[in-house]
Amino acid sequence: MVPPLRKISDYVWEIPKGYKPCMKVPARIFADETLLEKMKTDMTLEQAANVTCLPGIYKYSIALPDAHQGYGFPVGGVAAMDIEQGVVSPGGIGYDINCGVRLLRTNLTEKDVRPKLRELVDTIFKLVPAGVGETGLLRLSFGDLDKVLDDGVDWALSKGYGWSDDKNFIEEFGHYEGADSSKVSQRAKERGKDELGTTGSGNHFIEIQVVNKIFDANLAKRLGIEQEGQVMVLIHTGSRGLGHQVATDYIRVAENKMKQWGLFLPDRELAAMPLSTKEAQDYLAAMKAAANYAWTNRQIITHWVREAFRRAFGKDPDKLGLEIVYDVAHNIAKIEDHVIDDEGHVRRVLVHRKGATRSFPAGRLEIPPKYRDIGQPVLIPGSMGTASYVLIGLPTSFQVTFGTAPHGAGRTLSRSAAVRMLPPNKVRSTLESRGIIVRSAESEIISEEAPEAYKNVDKVAEIAELTGMAKRVSRHTPIGVVKG
Ligand code: 5GP
Ligand code: MN
Ligand code: MN
Repeated sequence: MVPPLRKISDYVWEIPKGYKPCMKVPARIFADETLLEKMKTDMTLEQAANVTCLPGIYKYSIALPDAHQGYGFPVGGVAAMDIEQGVVSPGGIGYDINCGVRLLRTNLTEKDVRPKLRELVDTIFKLVPAGVGETGLLRLSFGDLDKVLDDGVDWALSKGYGWSDDKNFIEEFGHYEGADSSKVSQRAKERGKDELGTTGSGNHFIEIQVVNKIFDANLAKRLGIEQEGQVMVLIHTGSRGLGHQVATDYIRVAENKMKQWGLFLPDRELAAMPLSTKEAQDYLAAMKAAANYAWTNRQIITHWVREAFRRAFGKDPDKLGLEIVYDVAHNIAKIEDHVIDDEGHVRRVLVHRKGATRSFPAGRLEIPPKYRDIGQPVLIPGSMGTASYVLIGLPTSFQVTFGTAPHGAGRTLSRSAAVRMLPPNKVRSTLESRGIIVRSAESEIISEEAPEAYKNVDKVAEIAELTGMAKRVSRHTPIGVVKG
């Protein structure tokens, strides 16, 4: 059954509070008619409604234009909870804690890179192993792993993985305060110990891209995006087996205690912990540790990507201008202050962003000093055969989405449907005829990740702008992709 929908504007819809007795607030859906029709075909809308049954939720739960069915929450879901009366739901952050994207710029153009593209892609494939369960080139002691979990990117920089300025271009500066390695299970540490510097499963990637459209030249310039034809590198991965185990561990804790806490929810996947409990605080400390692991993972990968460019071009990566534009987390929870009603009341809330990118406007202290007067860069990947976007957070994003924008195009075909419908050889040859080289650990990934398996990213980015979440800055298209 499709929940009732009230149209608020061309791109905004609401599931009224009355749809289910447990709903405390409405659910807001940001989509055009086409994206909305797609959401009606799976559990996305039902899940967005279920989220509003969580205690302490303010204003409305959100499904973004790229939303699709997930575990408990939709992927592309946002919810803000009161930090005293509310709960944290690990399913509202996701199994891949701090999955996110990092964009690097270069001084190179497509003309410079084309002749070296194959070599570059092969070197990256060698230095950054891809595929589920694949281990990296690094071998950490458990002591060092604890430092990664507690200190994040600071650990990587102390070991020479990266440049000191890198941390200024990472959310939370790559070191989430309050992370506690002692709240991460030994099982999680075992899974994560040898996986730093790897991308993981097929939705993750390292992609060589070319800037193909600049929407706002002034903003683009401020981000180091100077011209069409400029080569960029987009890295997408998260906290690997470690984050997955943290999520698994604490979902189990929540499931076991829910009854005792008097929490009765419409879907067991929503398992949640009251923020006033030790269990919730332990989960948050472990989630932050997993987030630090993910930022460190993208940092180590950045190091190897720079190394691959050095080998391919025989020049130091700093001469090639391989700087970080920005690194965003799109599976995370954060404590923030937000206006929660029409009277302008400000509340401290825990914002769950699952498959959702923070999109803070100019002025906020969370934004790196270099960007504070323009706003936070938002990164929206599309697929290995379509475009990806850079946007900048708009002031209105606070009113519409608690300062949040989409995180991707979002899947439109399930993995199994994609495998059935899109033979890998055909997908590959179509991509190659368009000048896109792809390497992956398994050929099945090519089908699962075919451009046709994802929704229209141009539409998603346009709706993000039209609804006041973030403003488009530039559009990039792939030329070489290393898939997980
Ligand atoms: P997720 O974090 O939900 O797995 O993926 C985020 C988004 O990345 C997806 O919604 C999809 O639009 C995008 N994406 C998946 N694979 C690729 C790829 O190979 N290249 C690019 N540019 N985007 C991708
Ligand atoms: Mn992920
Ligand atoms: Mn992701």
